[in-house]
Amino acid sequence: MKQLSHLSSEQLWNWLIQAHQEAKKGELPHYIPLLKQVNPSLLTLCLITKDYYTLNQGDSHITFPLMSIIKPFLLLYLLSKLGEELLFRKVGSVPSNYPFNSLEQLRLDQGFPRNPMINSGALTLASLLPGKDGDTKCQNLQQWLNQQGKSELFLDELMLESVQSLPNPRNQAILDELTRKNHIKNPEITLDTYNKICCLSGTIIDLAKLGLLLVNSQNIEQNYVSIVTKIMTACGLYEASKNLTTKIKFPSKSGVSGAILSIVPEQGAIACYSPPLDAQGNSVASLYMIEKIANYLNT
Ligand code: GLN
Repeated sequence: MKQLSHLSSEQLWNWLIQAHQEAKKGELPHYIPLLKQVNPSLLTLCLITKDYYTLNQGDSHITFPLMSIIKPFLLLYLLSKLGEELLFRKVGSVPSNYPFNSLEQLRLDQGFPRNPMINSGALTLASLLPGKDGDTKCQNLQQWLNQQGKSELFLDELMLESVQSLPNPRNQAILDELTRKNHIKNPEITLDTYNKICCLSGTIIDLAKLGLLLVNSQNIEQNYVSIVTKIMTACGLYEASKNLTTKIKFPSKSGVSGAILSIVPEQGAIACYSPPLDAQGNSVASLYMIEKIANYLNT
């Protein structure tokens, strides 16, 4: 495999210009007002290698909420705190053919969340975070990530207000089902925690640095890293995971804000952000960029 650090900034820039065109095919999400109002032509990318060689391009100063990209890091944190056995009593590791917020999938599975990359799984894991309320639970995760990843994630309060301004009947129904099945205990705190951790925000460089936790972290057990990256490969890009993984080949996770993080095993991470999404909810331009880089590395 070629080296991530050998990619030239000219090459990246050319792909970025094409990705900019591709972004026009996507749409902004409707259910979070602030995400609907964002400038659709924002585009940025950051490559980082395990020895911290960094190359970033585009609107790298802007911040965005991680949304679902927090899910693999929630899993990593809880694996480190609770261990594998306890954690996988609460959530599975099997891909889902349904959208990330599907109640149907949860019902078919008798209330046992299929994997931690979909909302039922992430809500369940959010309930396991240490802390007495949503604030403390979110802060504990935030502090750990910032310490381990040398990142500067912060809670975007305006985004949180926006998330809370409209009811989210799907997440509510998932929560009701999890509570009915006794899978979680305190639905209000759980939802508050989940919304907060989804609004942890940072720049593309922060996201790339977090990616390094899944490459060569000295303080995190390698076995936990492998568990997380395997689940990302199988489930990270929603129901499109299977198709897309054959193209991209790297463990990846996307979020509804338009970011995608891909891990290049043993080398580093690629973080990309462009708000317009395809029908499955994956950022069109981010996918385009990551596919181009993956092709380059794999040939
Ligand atoms: N907060 C979002 C939700 O639950 C996160 C989803 C996502 O990024 N796909 O709908």
